[in-house]
Amino acid sequence: MDIRPVIIIGTGPAGLTAALYTARAMMKPIVMEGHEPGGQLTLTTEVDNFPGFPEGVLGPELMANMKKQAARFGAEYMPVKATDVDFSKRPYKVTTEKGDVFHAHSIIISTGASAKWMGLPKEKELSGRGVSTCATCDGFFYRNKIVHVVGGGDTAMEDATFLTKFATKVYIVHRRDTLRASKPMQERAMKNPKIEFVWDSEVVEILDDQAGVVGIKVKNLKTNAVTERKTDGLFYGIGHTPNTGFLKGQINLDEHGFIKTVNGPETNIPGVFACGDVQDSYYRQAITAAGSGCQAAIKAERWLENEGLAH
Ligand code: NDP
Repeated sequence: MDIRPVIIIGTGPAGLTAALYTARAMMKPIVMEGHEPGGQLTLTTEVDNFPGFPEGVLGPELMANMKKQAARFGAEYMPVKATDVDFSKRPYKVTTEKGDVFHAHSIIISTGASAKWMGLPKEKELSGRGVSTCATCDGFFYRNKIVHVVGGGDTAMEDATFLTKFATKVYIVHRRDTLRASKPMQERAMKNPKIEFVWDSEVVEILDDQAGVVGIKVKNLKTNAVTERKTDGLFYGIGHTPNTGFLKGQINLDEHGFIKTVNGPETNIPGVFACGDVQDSYYRQAITAAGSGCQAAIKAERWLENEGLAH
């Protein structure tokens, strides 16, 4: 049996930083790239808050560079998606969608999280033409436009506040009459003169023409009245789903499905570490993901040493 020191699953900033550190530590990582190599940053344009780039950097370019950097030290990329794991015995086993099986002494999970969609007709085909799950990525295109944001949590408040930099008016459509968002974020949104709330309401239909979104139909959940609202953009700020479905009972998850970690990247399984958004619903930044990828790599290296498994 070919047993590798480490398999890294997922290649956003967390996974690629873990790849860089483990490769430089001569751990010959196998890096499973999944269906969205580069992760959420490949869906963005300009990234202005990753340190080291005074003029900003394009998300896809940043990820391509991270990938190249780890490859220089021997990271072995595989364009495969992990669909199953067995952490019940060592060495640990990872099975891909093609049915190929890989074994490793340690595993680093960095599969990230995906923005939630509402499931409305046409929403996916209108993505990039008025429907967006990423205000920081797409806000720029809504200069002097009217936009609606769905959600009542911190993401919706933050997105709405951010969008006021560009849009003339931002409406927050929330299905209840109280917000889930933290007090300071609520207050910031409520104080903003460009933001208005549409309470107890749900978007039930997206209206479009050839160019994209032109409006939405909104149902008041108390009166059941449906009204049409003009909008140029519809932003979903309704949370993220961690990509942990393939772990199926093999590791401890929290009530939202994020991997539970302690002391940085440690999971409840010895030698299995998690980093990036798959275990972080709070910071969710490229730089924090990269930092936790570094932590996971260092912990994996030390764990292998302590177990007498270092080459
Ligand atoms: P949350 O789960 O906190 O909020 C999701 C919101 O979307 C809720 O108000 C929910 O309504 C609503 N919602 C969910 N599904 C639907 C749906 N299908 N249709 C309509 N509305 C829907 O997710 P967030 O992404 O806002 O936050 C996740 C975590 O990240 C939190 O811990 C948050 O504090 C943190 N965060 C922190 C930030 C910061 O500090 N800067 C920024 C962003 C996030 P309801 O309330 O009725 O359930």
